[in-house]
Amino acid sequence: MSVIQEIFLIFAERGESAYFGEPVSQLEHALQSAAMARQAGAPNSLCVAALLHDVGHLIHGESETIADEGIDARHETAGEAWLATWFGPSVTEPVRLHVDAKRYLCRVDSDYLAHLSPASLQSLELQGGPFDSEEAQRFESNPFFADAVSLRRWDDAAKIPGMETPPIEHYRGAIAAALKTN
Ligand code: FE
Repeated sequence: MSVIQEIFLIFAERGESAYFGEPVSQLEHALQSAAMARQAGAPNSLCVAALLHDVGHLIHGESETIADEGIDARHETAGEAWLATWFGPSVTEPVRLHVDAKRYLCRVDSDYLAHLSPASLQSLELQGGPFDSEEAQRFESNPFFADAVSLRRWDDAAKIPGMETPPIEHYRGAIAAALKTN
């Protein structure tokens, strides 16, 4: 099975699960994130990163109430590790950094923190809370810093019940184009 088939299968089998305390499914959340990246004119690899940023949740198969149990599943690391077999850093790094981007934005943007959803606020604590100024500075020096922050903003916005988006098949070519060539 090709990785594209595998990705489609993962979303077909598990994408209907709820997105942790949010009013959309995992599949809707992924499709909205990707559509917002496209809409913003993001490069292809970043659109693919947006589509697949939460794949770590799906491959884990952890329960929907995991944060209620006080567990941080480290889905960003699981997702990055899974994706790294097929994709280069322009896909895997924004995925790996999308939780750090939230901790960063909570530090530098008080408005951002004030508008986090209850579920996202709950997981923030498990993820280590807002960055301190030193951590924020270190984060800004990462070459994928800006991509990770962009991805995070789409991630936070991609929770709109009933939003119309292209289906996942729409991204077949985009995924193929983002695959590592070696
Ligand atoms: Fe997400």
